[in-house]
Parts: sequence; C-alpha cells; structure tokens
Amino acid sequence: MKIKYCKNCKIYTLQENCKKCGNATSSAHPPKFSPLDPYGKYRRKLKLEAEK
Ligand SMILES: [Zn+2]
Repeated sequence: MKIKYCKNCKIYTLQENCKKCGNATSSAHPPKFSPLDPYGKYRRKLKLEAEK
C-alpha cells in the first residue's frame, strides 16, 4: 500500500492528488509512533507478535 502525503494540508492519503486542495501528493512513510499510542505500548505489541 502506497502512502502519500500532502504537504499543504499535512495529511496522509492514498490518492495521487490531495482530495482537499488538489495538490500532487508525495510519497511518505506513515509515522512510526502515533502521539495517541504510547511508545511502550507499541513495543509490547511488536514483541507479542514476534512471539507467535
Ligand atoms: Zn492538500
């Protein structure tokens, strides 16, 4: 899945052009850590999945 980013609106989208402003989006990686997701929680989830 390709993630695109609109620098204008500072949003992530899957579209080649931003739905909001119509600007061409650039490819981007999704943020590794969401502010809503504490760092520790993320690490624990990764560990759990590695143990399966
Ligand atoms: Zn935009």
